[in-house]
Amino acid sequence: MSAEDILKDDNKKSLNFIETIVETDLSEGKNDGRIQTRFPPEPNGYLHIGHSKAIAIDFGIARNYNGCCNLRFDDTNPIKEDVEYVDAIKEDIQWLGYDWANIYYASDYFPQLWDFAVQLIKEGKAYIDEQSAEDIAKQKGTPTQAGIESPFRNRPIEESLDLFQKMNEGALEEGSMVLRAKIDMASSNMHFRDPIIYRIINQPHHRTGTTWKAYPMYDFAHGQCDYFEGVTHSICTLEFVVHRPLYDWFIDQLATDEYRPHQYEFNRLNLTYTVMSKRKLLQLVQEQLVDGWDDPRMPTICGFRRRGYTPEAIHNFIDRIGYTKYDGINDISLLEYSIREDLNKRASRVSVVLDPIKLVLTNYPEDKTELMDAQNNPEDESAGSHKILFAKELYIERGDFMEDAPKKYFRLTPGNEVRLKNAYIVKCTGCKKDADGNILEVYAEYDDQTKSGMPESGRKVKGTIHWVATQDATDLEVRVYDRLFMVENPSEDERDFRDLMNPDSLKVLTGCKGESYIKGAQVQDKFQFQRIGYFCVDKDSTSDKLIFNRTVSLKDSWSKTKEK
Ligand code: ATP
Ligand code: MG
Repeated sequence: MSAEDILKDDNKKSLNFIETIVETDLSEGKNDGRIQTRFPPEPNGYLHIGHSKAIAIDFGIARNYNGCCNLRFDDTNPIKEDVEYVDAIKEDIQWLGYDWANIYYASDYFPQLWDFAVQLIKEGKAYIDEQSAEDIAKQKGTPTQAGIESPFRNRPIEESLDLFQKMNEGALEEGSMVLRAKIDMASSNMHFRDPIIYRIINQPHHRTGTTWKAYPMYDFAHGQCDYFEGVTHSICTLEFVVHRPLYDWFIDQLATDEYRPHQYEFNRLNLTYTVMSKRKLLQLVQEQLVDGWDDPRMPTICGFRRRGYTPEAIHNFIDRIGYTKYDGINDISLLEYSIREDLNKRASRVSVVLDPIKLVLTNYPEDKTELMDAQNNPEDESAGSHKILFAKELYIERGDFMEDAPKKYFRLTPGNEVRLKNAYIVKCTGCKKDADGNILEVYAEYDDQTKSGMPESGRKVKGTIHWVATQDATDLEVRVYDRLFMVENPSEDERDFRDLMNPDSLKVLTGCKGESYIKGAQVQDKFQFQRIGYFCVDKDSTSDKLIFNRTVSLKDSWSKTKEK
């Protein structure tokens, strides 16, 4: 199913609470039937899988209800922001299958926000506070105890206007003064206790350069930007519930008409065995604890992409977890289920041996070879088939042979029969060992009456193993990924998250042997390595060496399951 189809399919399912609100608003003719959303990332890092949940609702609502969704970069803090992130964010949104109606930047509204701040000062609703951030914080009070009013709270309006200008001239030190809204130091909502709305930052901005020294705070920018743009449904995550009254208060001071954007909040996506905060992800990158933002172990969208995830799998996962009004944590195994389900439908089956040992068929002619038929995808007839070369000497997995095997071992052990996938039934006759007892080669005899596709030989065998003919084999490197963290919820742990990293989250296997069919594979091509898992070609591959990432293992443990 394409991303488009999944989104259409979503429509048929029961509505989530945000869709219900949108449909009610439409039926009541609110905003003249106009639906407008925005996705507002701060360009201070790469997008992670959590963002894809916000993207899916913001862009999805617009797509499903003939509305529009704008991409708005919330670039009010020049210290952490960069164009590198702007470009990466655009790429990731498009990869997920969406397009924005317009691109805006909060910095586009700096002049309007400035004028609005000046208006508030003139109306006696904002003042310059020259106290330090620490002192201001100390006076905030507690939810049950009123805060203390600043000694600057009732300074003359002219003085505040004058100092506000100075804040933007570059002569003042960062932190020497701030602009605060004058609301209510006793409010039960802490955000109403004279929130800081402008601060000094003496660093160039990636878009506005050195024009500004005074920068608006998030709470003073977000709602107003929504209003300037005409947003109808401003959808965000639950931590903003407590900000909503302030969001509304600012817009009430600003609005000159009936129109109001409304904020709605849903539960953010948290995943087990990873961290999602951009600050922590940035630390992992900067301290080189991972190989960049797109390290396949990262929960970033580009990390999942490099690892071999598809947009469809991510959409399906988000669809399954849904949108609610209570926070929780989602099991990474549900995401893994979604990618398995998707790749099962689309990935070609190939034969790759990760840990090779030689199997010699002692009764197979020395110089004979055969081309066996290998179905590309048993789930999809139309995917066709390819040929795989069969010969006397094959590589098999070291783990598929055991000299002294327990009773229920259905793979190769002396006297036991297995089917070689797409080829013959063979009977194990023994092995050769070195002086230390290490197994060097395994021996078997094939039964020429049992070639796959031949009339039933009447004999059934319990195990099927995969193989690659030594003369057909191409060398591969395979990167096997595991959870990046050892604990389920590293963010809730008292220990430093970096101390909770899984030392075995990456295993590099060299000397793996693949059938020649995969030789021409391109970066991002996806395969099922039979009996092992789903893999995709990594960008580190070169023309003479393919490197694969393990996207996800096969669900079934491959010891007991009988191959289809
Ligand atoms: P962080 O706290 O990690 O820096 P953020 O919330 O500041 O993340 P933004 O770039 O500001 O990141 O987020 C853009 C949008 O994505 C916001 O609307 C935010 O609510 C939403 N978002 C961020 N993280 C998640 C998440 N884990 N699940 C769902 N939505 C999210
Ligand atoms: Mg944010």
